[in-house]
Amino acid sequence: MHEGQLTFFGGVSKSGGVQVLYGKGKQAILFDFGIEHSSLLFPKQTTLYEPVGATTGREIRQFLLGGMTAPLLELYDPQQIKGIDPAIVSRVWSDREFPQYERISLFIGHMHTDHIGALPYANPDLPVYMNHDSYALYRGIVAGGHYPDTAARIEACEDLSIIDFGEFTIQIVEMDHNATGAAGLIIDSGDYKIAYTGDWRRQGKHPEKIDRFIELCRNKGIDVLITEGTRLPADPAAVPSYQQPEDELLNDFAEWIGAAEGLVYLQMSPRDLERMANMIAIAVEKGRKIVMESSHALIWHAANQEGLRILEGHPALNAEIRVLDATVTDGMTVPYDTVALEEVAEHKDQYLYFFKFPDLAQMIELETLGQLQGCSHFIQSDYSVKVDHKDVAKFLKTFGITGHTLNNGGHAHPEAISDLVERIAPKAVITLHSPHPRSLDTRGVKAFFPEKGQTVSVASIIEAASVAAGQ
Ligand SMILES: [Zn+2]
Ligand SMILES: [Zn+2]
Repeated sequence: MHEGQLTFFGGVSKSGGVQVLYGKGKQAILFDFGIEHSSLLFPKQTTLYEPVGATTGREIRQFLLGGMTAPLLELYDPQQIKGIDPAIVSRVWSDREFPQYERISLFIGHMHTDHIGALPYANPDLPVYMNHDSYALYRGIVAGGHYPDTAARIEACEDLSIIDFGEFTIQIVEMDHNATGAAGLIIDSGDYKIAYTGDWRRQGKHPEKIDRFIELCRNKGIDVLITEGTRLPADPAAVPSYQQPEDELLNDFAEWIGAAEGLVYLQMSPRDLERMANMIAIAVEKGRKIVMESSHALIWHAANQEGLRILEGHPALNAEIRVLDATVTDGMTVPYDTVALEEVAEHKDQYLYFFKFPDLAQMIELETLGQLQGCSHFIQSDYSVKVDHKDVAKFLKTFGITGHTLNNGGHAHPEAISDLVERIAPKAVITLHSPHPRSLDTRGVKAFFPEKGQTVSVASIIEAASVAAGQ
């Protein structure tokens, strides 16, 4: 079959886990390789709470047999799927037939688990393409022990790189999301053009990147647009809450840290290295020293060793970083000098501490030692463990620590998605990464709703797309 077609293995009517295979002729590209958040198992990573995880050493077998990742066995490390009966994997997918390609490559848009969950189990021969800064972040989270490495061959590509697969090309287009380096794709097969946003938002630091993506798409003339729709509500009439732009959020941070008396604990996601850099720079400007929990320090250092494009010339790169000695375990090598917990406790008003949730016990020492008592601050910034988490709340109450929340999320507001669809004006739009894809107001653009496991030609998508009811 020579016609370009798409197969939807994941991300359909679910948040996360996008796995879409585009193939034409002998070549195919799978975009993203994640595991849905709401599947049977939570993807393997160092989590700061305890979700139901896969059994160590059997992860990919359980993901495959749970129908949580594409049933194309050539994608996986043969050692890790040894003895798995392909007939049983096929049965999980109701013995559905899938297209065969001579070569499948992989594109990974960003470093959130719902997009990379299967990467550690990839076949060592699988070519993997990533935007440069995503690759740098991957090196960071592997160094920090937050994620396993992969044997697959990763090629780090600069933003806007075009990769030629013969039958089609892909262009990597950096977007804005709360994972550094997040990128979308434009696939061009000559006859048809497909754009994939990956996860994106307008309220981030770089809305101009979204405008650039829209411009690139408009210039190409996109046939099929695939966007994420994480924040679409169940009821299309409901309006999700406002999320403040990144600059406002950073202003709030600057105000709080400027006024804070005691120690400032900061719990944020070390996948958003640009926010981390901005918060480091603000804290230094406000006269604070930076101390990090060891895995944060390892991520920050290893990612920057790769030369993050987004942080070129950033003042945070010159900041002096210290690692809290209590977070360094035996045999661990850390990239910066350590500072004693007692020293931080003695000079609470001089430090910003990049903290991680499982280390709550340290608060007992940090808050009871030293002169200043009962005036520290705990800032939770887009992290999954919130200030009202029962354990966090207990510690904050016990030590009189003021809790703050600084969130703006990583996903686009429904209005922003509608605006993007309208401006790109594709022949058909597909909304993935959402339990409520039908809630999207496509502003007259025809929509197509794939099913999990469905294979459909690009021509048929355009033909079958229809204007949503009620528009
Ligand atoms: Zn996602
Ligand atoms: Zn994401």
